[in-house]
Parts: sequence; structure tokens; C-alpha cells
Amino acid sequence: MAVLTPEWTAFLYLVAAVCFILALKGLGSPRTARRGNLIGALGAVIAMVVVFLSTELDNLALILGVIAVGTIIAVPASRMVKMTQMPQLVALFNGVGGGAAALVALLELEHSVSFGAYLAVAFTVLVGSIAFSGSVITFLKLQELMPTRPIVFIGHAAVIVVLAVVGLAAAAIIVLPEAWLAGVGLGGLKWSAAVAGLGVGSVLGVLLVLPVGGADVPIVISLLNAGTGLAVAASGLVLNNTLLLVAGTLVGASGSILTREMAKAMGRSVTGILFGAFRGASSAGSTATSDRPVRSSSADDVAILLGYANRVVVVPGYGLAVAQAQHTMAELAQTLEAKGIEVVFGIHPVAGRMPGHMNVLLAEANVPYEALAEMDEVNPQFKTADVALVVGANDVVNPAAKTTPGSPIYGMPILDVQDARQVVFLKRSMRPGFAGIENDLLFDQKTTLLFGDAKESLTKVLGAVKNL
Ligand code: NDP
Repeated sequence: MAVLTPEWTAFLYLVAAVCFILALKGLGSPRTARRGNLIGALGAVIAMVVVFLSTELDNLALILGVIAVGTIIAVPASRMVKMTQMPQLVALFNGVGGGAAALVALLELEHSVSFGAYLAVAFTVLVGSIAFSGSVITFLKLQELMPTRPIVFIGHAAVIVVLAVVGLAAAAIIVLPEAWLAGVGLGGLKWSAAVAGLGVGSVLGVLLVLPVGGADVPIVISLLNAGTGLAVAASGLVLNNTLLLVAGTLVGASGSILTREMAKAMGRSVTGILFGAFRGASSAGSTATSDRPVRSSSADDVAILLGYANRVVVVPGYGLAVAQAQHTMAELAQTLEAKGIEVVFGIHPVAGRMPGHMNVLLAEANVPYEALAEMDEVNPQFKTADVALVVGANDVVNPAAKTTPGSPIYGMPILDVQDARQVVFLKRSMRPGFAGIENDLLFDQKTTLLFGDAKESLTKVLGAVKNL
């Protein structure tokens, strides 16, 4: 039974929309992110409850059953996921959203009458299905259930073009007036065209993401997220639901901005990321490691380097996150500061596997925000640093980004650790970082390597610093 009047429904949708906007604002800073997230969740709860109270729903038991199944899967998945696996989870949730929007639009086809409604159906079916299947591939790549390198087969680009043309033709059949279609012998084909659009979109999503190489996958997740947002916004038009329109537009706009910012932080263009592999540019690079000598050392030696420094810049990377070494790192920083040594954390915008990854980890370990310095702020400070302590980072400090045209990361802004007097790398082996390329700085005269898991190494260094 519909309990809410249309006026109350519209008002509560407005409240939910304001919650979403406040949530985005809150997510802009680590200080307010948790609160922002909760406000967004509140908006989503309001939106869902309003649907039940304002609409005569058939199949209520089925709907509640499906919600229960979704909750049973999503709650433990979200609780159990490690911080380092967060991009995969976001990719899956995003993909499911796109797929749901596409299916809803497909089912709403029979209720559509106006040109605008048909256009929204065609857009949602195509973009939603691309977002769904593309997200599944990004999940498989990031979870390393399939090769992370770019995958391109002979005729790949041509197949994409043909499918895009077929997809547009299907969209045209959905959109054009039935009378006109009947006149050219294509009457009664709208439903088949929509199903074909769903199939073509799903294959296109796979083909578009296969050529994207490892390091670029998180950017594509953000791009697909923007696509899902736009598909959901269009489904708001299909269903005549203002809140879906507002929420979808917010996701579409914020996803597009995030995609651009991430691409900028990596010195790449979005078209280069999507189609670079067709031009022969691989973002996976070579994984070959050379057998040039390196200077490896003990935790005691590293402790001496740190203990007698005046300024230390710590550069955290993906390896710190994998090792869950943020608490030990924070304790080491405190111990050094207690000895009068200045410690700054230099944060690269794409350190880790998603934007803000390092800020969140370090905030979790109670590192004060004042101790974190963004790339532009910290780069001039390396010249006066006695030690740059690189913990589980590689690509974001690889000078090849500046010196080697043709390198997959050429043009990516980096942290200038090579300017510090001494550089210490904490890593387990000579294996390269995510982009799969060798880092010359590992072989530099001023570089010392401490091999081992970041948490174990930091624990040893911490013990040794305390004993100095
Ligand atoms: P990298 O992946 O370049 O390097 C991580 C390093 O950590 C490796 O050298 C690895 O070496 C080491 N490592 C892994 N596990 C451990 C461990 N348990 N203990 C110690 N060391 C470990 O990470 P960066 O943070 O430097 O760079 C991020 C990469 O991700 C870039 O290529 C970036 O472009 C990409 N990226 C990030 C995005 C973001 O938004 N943050 C988005 C898109 C891409 P070893 O195996 O020898 O231990």
C-alpha cells in the first residue's frame, strides 16, 4: 500500500539527494570521509525505504528475498576485504550497478512511449552492459585471476568497431518510431534490438578492457564507474524517478572527474589508456630484472642511517599496504621524532592501488595529517633530506618517468627521492612494481636495500633504532 503522498515522496527524495551531495563533500578529506560515508549510506536507506512506502509493489516477497540475498553476500564481502583489494570490490559493486540499470531499462522497454524514454532505454542498455562486463574483467585482472598485461588479438580493433556499429544500429531501432520502422520492414523488432544491445554491450565491455595493462586498470574502474552513473541517471529518466537521475548524475560527474585526475597523476591520457595497446604501446612493460650489483644491508645499518639523520622523508607504497606495516611505520616515525629527527611522509597521488590509499592507511595508524605532504609540497624537500625511506613503493619513485621516453610510466609525475642524500628501499626482492619495469634507482650508489617483508623489516629497524 502506498503510504506516502507524492509530495512527501518528492521531499524525502530531496533529503536523500542532499545526503549524497554532503557525502561527496565529506569524502573529499580523510578527516571527514567516515562521516561522509555514513551520510551517503543514510541517503541510500532513505531512498530505499521511500520506494517501499510510495509505490504499489508487486512481488514484494521476491523483492525482499533478493535484498536479503544481496545483503548476505555484500556485508561479509565488505567486512572481509583487505584494503589492498578494495579496488576489486569497488569494481564488482560498480559492475553490478551497471548491469542492474541495463536489465531494468530492458524490462521498462514495453512501458516506454516517448522518443526521450526510448533514447534513455537504448543508452542505459548499452552503457550499463558495457560497465557490467568491463568491470568483471577489471576485477579478474586486479585479483590476478587472469593476466594483468594488455591482451590484444588479431583484428581486435576491427571487431570493436563492428560491434560498436551493431550496437548503434540496435539503439536506432529502439529509438525510431514504430510506424517508420514498419515502413522499412523492421517493425516489431524493438525488444529483439534491446536484447541484442545487451549482448553487444556485454561483449564490447570485455573487448575494451582486455587491452588495458595492469597499472591502468584502476583508472578504467573509475571510468566504468562514471559510465554506470550515467546509465543509472538515464534509467531515472526511464522510470521517471528524480532521485535515480540525481544520484546517477552525481556518480557520473564525480567518476569522470576522478578518472581525469588519476590519469593526470599518472601522466597519461584516457584514450591512451584505452587504446594505447592497439598502437603497440604496452603499459605492462618488461618484467626482466638485470643482474647489476646492488647494495643490500642489515636492519642495524638502516637504523644507524635513520638514527643519525636530521630529516627523513618516508615514501609509503603498495608494499606497505600489503604488509599492513602502517602501525610499525608510525611507531618508527614517532621513535625517530622523539630523538629530535624530523619525519615527513611524502604521498604520491597514485601510491598504492587507488587514490587516497596511503592517506587512509596512515590515518588508521594515527599518523597526524600535518606529517603528510602531497607530492608538490614534498618534492622540493628531498634535497634537504638525509634519508628517503621508501617502504614498499617502486613506480612512484622511478626516475625513468622523467628520463626514459618510451617507458610505460614516462610522463608520470614522481616523488624525487633520488635528490635525497641517501635512499633506503624496503622490499622483498628485485621484482619490479605494478608497471612491471626496472627501477635504476635501486642500483644507484646512494641507495641501500633492506630485503624482506615491510612489516618484518620495519620491526627490526624499530628495535635497532630504540637501542641506538
Ligand atoms: P608499486 O606496485 O610500484 O611497488 C610496490 C613495491 O612494493 C614493489 O616493488 C614490491 O617489491 C614491494 N612489495 C610488495 N609487497 C611487499 C611486502 N609485503 N613487503 C615489502 N615490499 C613489498 O607501488 P607504488 O605504490 O610505488 O606504485 C603504485 C602503482 O600503482 C603505480 O604503477 C601506479 O601507477 C599504479 N596505480 C595506482 C593507482 C592509484 O590510484 N593509487 C591507480 C592506478 C594505478 P617486491 O615484490 O620486491 O617486494
